[in-house]
Amino acid sequence: MKIYDPEKLREMSKNLTELIGQHGPNKVLYKMGTPNLIIPLNNQGILPTNNFRTGFFEGAEKISGEQMVATILKGGKSCYACSVRCKREVEVSSGPYATSEKHKYGGPEYETLGALGSLLCIDNLDAIAKGNELCNRYTLDTISTGVAIGFAMECYEKGLLTRTDTEGIEFTFGNPDAMLKGIEWIALRRPGLGNLLADGVKIAATKLGRGSEKFALHIKGQELPLHDPRGKIGVGMSFAISPTGADHIRAPHDTPFQVPGPMMERIAPLGLLEPVPARELGPHKARNFIYLHFIWSLYESLGVCNFVAGPVWALTLSKLVEVVQAVTGWETSLWELMKAGERSVTMARVFNLREGFGRKDDTLPDRLFEPLESGALQGFGIDRREFDELLTLYYEAMGWDPRDGVPTRGKLAELNLFWLDEFVKNRR
Ligand code: SF4
Repeated sequence: MKIYDPEKLREMSKNLTELIGQHGPNKVLYKMGTPNLIIPLNNQGILPTNNFRTGFFEGAEKISGEQMVATILKGGKSCYACSVRCKREVEVSSGPYATSEKHKYGGPEYETLGALGSLLCIDNLDAIAKGNELCNRYTLDTISTGVAIGFAMECYEKGLLTRTDTEGIEFTFGNPDAMLKGIEWIALRRPGLGNLLADGVKIAATKLGRGSEKFALHIKGQELPLHDPRGKIGVGMSFAISPTGADHIRAPHDTPFQVPGPMMERIAPLGLLEPVPARELGPHKARNFIYLHFIWSLYESLGVCNFVAGPVWALTLSKLVEVVQAVTGWETSLWELMKAGERSVTMARVFNLREGFGRKDDTLPDRLFEPLESGALQGFGIDRREFDELLTLYYEAMGWDPRDGVPTRGKLAELNLFWLDEFVKNRR
């Protein structure tokens, strides 16, 4: 695209690179990438483990970012021109899980360490790196693939699948060979288990039946990312209301914004001044979540990475506005850009309403309402009634009818989206 003020943009890029080099959270990302999250999330009791039955994994240290740095890490990489360089490059040089010299696909991110590791109770970092390589080689998403294998492992544990279904392999939690076989079978749609899992857990559970739906962790057919809403309710909200199903980057995670300090200062320009506990389900949570998910929606519209522009990271909200001004030449403001984020959320909502989705789909899997079995949050499950009330507050604050989340005519008019009314009027 034609840049309105290339000089200013160049100057800002230079300053941003310097800022990234000094900004604490970005320095951690540079050194360890997203795998740095394994240990803190395990300590908080929200590292999804054993198909989301607990948030504590005894083998966490063995699959941590620290362990990766000490053993198989070969370096970092980046997307085009990004100085954060959060991507990992790994190599397992020997043994049963040696990675390919010819096919290099980078190293596992946090989500992959969770999906192919803690979720499946696998503490073998080499095997996870191999699983990551296979998924990338076969172009499979590691989150959906890991959750599909976790579903199969729990079905096996409960006797819904047997050794006949798994070609004699013990499809048990903790077995890295079952994980690697599962990836290949899914990728190749191998008749039997591979074919069953290849369409995702929602369809697999529908086909398998016999109560297996309880073990299928998905929202709107999209497998759960490796974040447990029982420890961060805003993430549960973003999973539930996301138009594309469970998605961990629709909104920020609650934890940085539950204590006073520098992170709160970064969202102060939005008028969000009071910290809100990560597990709160009241009106303050609704307000914080709404403002911040507009910002995340804006990032998606602008195509900026939230490891650069998110409030936790180096680029502040006011600088982001200046970037947009330099690129487009618009006399824009944070207020106007927030409205762009809100418009995007609302348009996606109307698209989904047109396709038959509604409030009944904005929910969480039953497992997240059950208590965590161990770890720092042992015994804690989300209260279903309180979560439902939070959803109602969200719809009302959004200007959506709380019965089915349909935007009111007034809200469509306010967002200059009245032309969408014809798509939703029959739903009111
Ligand atoms: S653009 Fe984002 S994902 Fe890519 S290297 Fe930079 S921080 Fe990482």
